[in-house]
Amino acid sequence: MMIPFNKPYECGNELHYIQDAIKRGKISGNGYYTKRCQSFFEEKYGFRKCLLTTSCTDALEMAAILLNIEPGDEVIVPSYTFVSTANAFVLRGAKIVFVDSGKNHPNLDPDHLESLISPNTKAIVVVHYAGMACDMERIMGIAKKFGVFVVEDAAQAIDSYYGSGEERRPLGGIGHLGAVSFHETKNIISGEGGMLVVNDEQFVDRSEIIWEKGTNRVSFFRGEIDKYGWVDIGSSFLMSELNAAYLYAQLENIDSIQASRIELFKAYEDYFDDITDMDLPKCPDYATLNGHMFYLVASNLEHRTSVLSALKEVGIHAVFHYGSLHKSIVQKHNHDGRELFNSDRYADCLLRLPIYPELDFTIIERRLNQVRFDKF
Ligand SMILES: *Cc1c(COP(=O)(O)O)cnc(C)c1O
Repeated sequence: MMIPFNKPYECGNELHYIQDAIKRGKISGNGYYTKRCQSFFEEKYGFRKCLLTTSCTDALEMAAILLNIEPGDEVIVPSYTFVSTANAFVLRGAKIVFVDSGKNHPNLDPDHLESLISPNTKAIVVVHYAGMACDMERIMGIAKKFGVFVVEDAAQAIDSYYGSGEERRPLGGIGHLGAVSFHETKNIISGEGGMLVVNDEQFVDRSEIIWEKGTNRVSFFRGEIDKYGWVDIGSSFLMSELNAAYLYAQLENIDSIQASRIELFKAYEDYFDDITDMDLPKCPDYATLNGHMFYLVASNLEHRTSVLSALKEVGIHAVFHYGSLHKSIVQKHNHDGRELFNSDRYADCLLRLPIYPELDFTIIERRLNQVRFDKF
């Protein structure tokens, strides 16, 4: 039997909470479980304001609306990322300026940022790949110097930090806005789902309006106004209570989920350290692990293809990841022609191994032992 790449984890109370949401007589958004989940994040991580959304993609689209992105604006986005990181801003008419990954990490290389900033630059979107922090102090410094906003695509970065000790800051909570994903492939899941994190006070009130289709309904429900109406643009960004109920069952178990994923990450790291020349994930010293992903970087595309098929032969479903967005059909004509060497290298060479709480490392280890990694 194939060891799958991912298996959605069930904590036990999901159905119970979904039933409870139904009993409470409100299964649309912004009900009991939505509030509990949002408070959980605001209390545990000190986030200024959290809004559950139907996906991280939607949270990024809310961020683009909040920043008033419009045609003529430029937004700097890593090329090595999921489409939504860029697409959310393209929908508002932005021109995407792609930035390369670092040599030692798929995260964007901050050395390139200053030269990519123009008078039209409105925002930098950072992606904390594999849940490992970008160099946020440096990036926030550059953003401040040039007066541009920072949006954190923290889709993979739940419960991970920049810095350590008392100085550490939770990812998603550092930029002006942050976006988290609860898609079933992430650490904490609700099927489809996401969350907007609003860190900059100036965006707090408007975020609730955009969330509720451009109406001031949230304010109405709080009793602050006596009728609600259409006051801004927006969309239907709220997560259903059924998903929020599922999500809450997961959040109650966040510490054990993270611990088991980090343990698997470290087991992989120990395992591969001695037996392969392939690059392993390098966690920067200012970053923490959240066990979202374990990857290997092969030496070229052919090498990766042979490693993937060798793993498949022993029943391990490993997968590659993004293609460079600056070479995508949608964006290649807009790109300025710069070579983004590292992004292309990760697109060709990176492969991801199964990681999920139920995975028993001794079982996958037995299969890994049948592959001669040193021969590649
Ligand atoms: C998963 C992911 C997304 C999209 O999340 P959804 O919740 O599926 O919309 C966006 N960006 C990154 C980096 C991701 O890993």
